[in-house]
Amino acid sequence: MNTPDTPGRRGFLRSACRHCLGFAGLAGLPALAQDLSAIKVPPRFSRPAADTDEGGLWGLVDREETRIKRSPLMIRDEALKNYLTDMVCRLSDGHCPDIRVHAVRVPHFNALMAPNGMMLVWSGLMLRVENEAQLAAILGHELGHYLERHQVEQLRAAKDRAVLSTMVGMVGGIGTFVGQIGLLANMFAFSREHETRADRMGMRLMRHAGYDGREAAAVWDNLLAELRVTGGKDAGKRGDMFETHPTTAGRRDELLQLAGGAGGELGADSYRKAIAPLRFGWLQDEVKRGQYEESLVLFDRMVGKDAQDADVLFARGEVYRLRDDGGDADKALADLDRASRLARPPAETFRSLGLLHKQRNDRGAAVQAFETYLAQAPQAPDADLLRGYLAEMKR
Ligand SMILES: [Zn+2]
Repeated sequence: MNTPDTPGRRGFLRSACRHCLGFAGLAGLPALAQDLSAIKVPPRFSRPAADTDEGGLWGLVDREETRIKRSPLMIRDEALKNYLTDMVCRLSDGHCPDIRVHAVRVPHFNALMAPNGMMLVWSGLMLRVENEAQLAAILGHELGHYLERHQVEQLRAAKDRAVLSTMVGMVGGIGTFVGQIGLLANMFAFSREHETRADRMGMRLMRHAGYDGREAAAVWDNLLAELRVTGGKDAGKRGDMFETHPTTAGRRDELLQLAGGAGGELGADSYRKAIAPLRFGWLQDEVKRGQYEESLVLFDRMVGKDAQDADVLFARGEVYRLRDDGGDADKALADLDRASRLARPPAETFRSLGLLHKQRNDRGAAVQAFETYLAQAPQAPDADLLRGYLAEMKR
C-alpha cells in the first residue's frame, strides 16, 4: 500500500515539490504557522460497530495486537512502557485512555499507530533518537495519522475493497514475526497528503506539549545521513520508515518552518535515563543487523556527541572488526582499546580485544584480554570456548 509511483513519476513529484517549497520558503512561512494553530484535535473516538468496514479493520488489528503482545520480541520493561505511555498522554490531548504503546525489539527505524489505538515503537528507532523531543516528533506524527483517521480514509478510498482483503491476507499469512510487523507497517503506508497532514498534526501536538519543534527536522537530518551511504536502494526491504515516510529534504525543510524559531524542552537527560537499561542490547542488535555502512554513520554521530561512551565505542569497534576491510582491524583495535580504558566498559570489549590480538599472534595481550573477559563474565555463553583458547595459548 505504498504510493504507487513509478520511478519516473516519483522523480517528477520530487522536483514539483522542491518548486513548491522554494516558493513557500519565500512567501509561505506565515501561512504555515497559521495552519498549525488552526489544527484542531478531535474528541475521543468510540469503537465502531463490528459489521462496518471500520469495525472490520479494528477487529483485524485487535487480533494482531494480541499476537504481538505474546511475541518474544515484545520489550517487557515496565519502566520503559510507563515512560512511553506518559509521553503519549502528554502529547495526545485527551486520547490517552484509548491508546496502548508497545515497544518491540526490532533494529529498524519505525513506529506505527493503528486505528484501534495500538501504537508500536521499534527499538531501532529508540536507539537512534537523541532526546525526548525527537521521540515526541515521531510519536506525534503517528498520533496525527490516528487522530485524522487516515487509515479509515485509506480503506474507504479503495473502491473494490481489495485493500481490506489484502490486509487480511497479509496479517493471516505465515511468516516471521519481524516480517509480519514489517507488513503491518506497510499496511499503514500513507499518501503524501496524509504524510504532510500527519507532520503538521505531529508538530501541533509536540509544540503544544512544550517540546522543541526543531527536533522533528533533526530526526530526518539524521536519517538522511544514514540513507545517503546506501543511496536508499534497499530502504523499503529493510522494513523501516524510509519506505512509508519519504525522507526528502523538502519534508525536513517544511518541518523546520513549522517549528518556528521558539525553543522548548529537549528532554535529553530523561530520555537517556529511560532507555539506559536496554540500550546496550539495542547497540548489539544494530551491529548484528550487518548493515555496517549505516551503522558507522550512526555510531560516528553517537561518538561525536559523547567520546566517553564505552558502549558505543565497543559497538563501533565491533563493526570494524566484523567488516574487516583494509585498515578496519586497526580501527577496531583503537576503538576497543579506548573503550577498555574508560569507566565500566562492557565485558565483551575484552573478548573482542582478545580475538583481535589472537589474530595478530600477540599471545600475551590476547591471554590478558580473555582473562579479563572471563573474570567479568564467567557465565557467558562463549566462556568455555574462550577457556579452550586460553589453554591452547598457554601451552
Ligand atoms: Zn506517516
